[in-house]
Amino acid sequence: MRFKTIRSRVAIVATLFAVVLVATIAVGTYALVARGMQAAAIETAGLLADVAERVTRNTLDTARERAESAGMDREEAQAAMLAAMVEEPPAPFAEGLAYEGSFALHVIQQPGDEPVMVWGVGESHEAGDETLRMRAFTGDGPVADFPGAQPLIRGMFVRADLGVYSYYLPLELPGVHAAVLDVAYMPRDQEAILDATRLPITVLGLIALTGSLLAAMGTTRRAISLIDDLRRTADSVDVGVLDVRLPEEGGTEVVDLARSLNRLIDGLQRRNEVQARFIADASHELATPVAGIRGYVNILRAWGAEDPALQEEAVSAIDRESRRMARLCSDLLSLIRSEEQVEYRQIRYDINAVCREVLANAATRYLSKELRFTGPREGPLWLHGDPDRIEEALGILVDNACKYTPDGGSVSVTTRRSRDRVVVDVTDTGVGIPEEDLPNVFERFYRSDISRSQETGGFGLGLAIAKHIVDVSDGTISVRSTVGSGTTFEISLPRQRVR
Ligand code: ADP
Repeated sequence: MRFKTIRSRVAIVATLFAVVLVATIAVGTYALVARGMQAAAIETAGLLADVAERVTRNTLDTARERAESAGMDREEAQAAMLAAMVEEPPAPFAEGLAYEGSFALHVIQQPGDEPVMVWGVGESHEAGDETLRMRAFTGDGPVADFPGAQPLIRGMFVRADLGVYSYYLPLELPGVHAAVLDVAYMPRDQEAILDATRLPITVLGLIALTGSLLAAMGTTRRAISLIDDLRRTADSVDVGVLDVRLPEEGGTEVVDLARSLNRLIDGLQRRNEVQARFIADASHELATPVAGIRGYVNILRAWGAEDPALQEEAVSAIDRESRRMARLCSDLLSLIRSEEQVEYRQIRYDINAVCREVLANAATRYLSKELRFTGPREGPLWLHGDPDRIEEALGILVDNACKYTPDGGSVSVTTRRSRDRVVVDVTDTGVGIPEEDLPNVFERFYRSDISRSQETGGFGLGLAIAKHIVDVSDGTISVRSTVGSGTTFEISLPRQRVR
């Protein structure tokens, strides 16, 4: 995992915060619950002891009163009290208490001896790890095991999970010097766990808190300084100053932003360069006919009046050059219009019909060259796109084919399906394009030497316009050619709308 991006750093900070928060809440809840349960255990044990004492005393007092009113001696009274306890065990402890588990008080009678009453607990109950015990003690110590013990009082006890609490309830019982009712709760050592974990959790929490604060501050400072750098550099970028690039170091999102902005500046710079070259090329192309016109105007001024033949020649040259200028202006306008951000239509059209239309127009224009035209003969081949734009592009290719093919040659347009695309080939038997010119023919104002020398009159803008139209239509255009035998331009278009 990389920790360079602002997102990952923020995630770490957030995780640290979350850990601290959850740990604090967990410890807090644990402490609260523990305290609550301890309180419940204390209260329950206290109530148990209280009730046990009261019930026991009542029973014994009643037995003693009965024995005294019957005029019994001490030993008889003790026996009667014991019998009362055995025969009429006190009612179960108060019903209002929510008890769980059970306990019992037992009367112990040693075989052969005087009955010795010892209060004890014969049953202890386990609930999970916890044990609630009620034990009785004689003066000689705790009473552990009495096989003959009779259950005297049965009751329930509340289960509590935390704390160690005992109530030693001294009982004065007949025949026993001292007996103690011990209500105790034997717990796990949660308190100790709490104590043991409190310090490390506090320290860890503080460390995590400090760490996350420092990390947050560091991340914020770094991000702000990167953004400051970007802003300063971006401020220095201007239309005329496009050789500035934003720093792309590190791996944060800010660097991604810098990369995107740099790409944008690259694009602007390229566009600027293309535009500058275009203006230079266009000015150059315009300068040639203007120079010609001016030259012939000078000739006319100097000798036109005396020499009608020269006058005629100059006027027709001026006419030719001005027509050339007009054509160049029209080509430039077509190029600019083709590059305007106008939406291309997306309609279903038959490409074969478009091809036939283009060929028919060319046949009319180039009638005098006696070319042989072949178009697609098949039925409709449907495409989605802008048929007018595609007709314009095909028109340029067919016009070139006618221009650069000697009289009597042939120009053909064929179409075929190729998976989800349609391929249109425009083939001629013309002069061809030298191999070294092939990569450049789609550039603006590019003309191969052959066509220049033949003075066919183009400005090298047609293929740039055609390529732009095909590009915007999500198609591709390519060329293959052999000098002296002919040229094929291939356009591949998607059958369905792409975007
Ligand atoms: P132009 O107006 O000069 O024809 P284009 O952009 O249409 O401009 O074509 C650029 C150059 O590519 C042409 O000047 C020519 O040298 C060459 N070219 C284009 N089409 C053909 C073709 N069918 N046969 C031979 N050369 C061609």
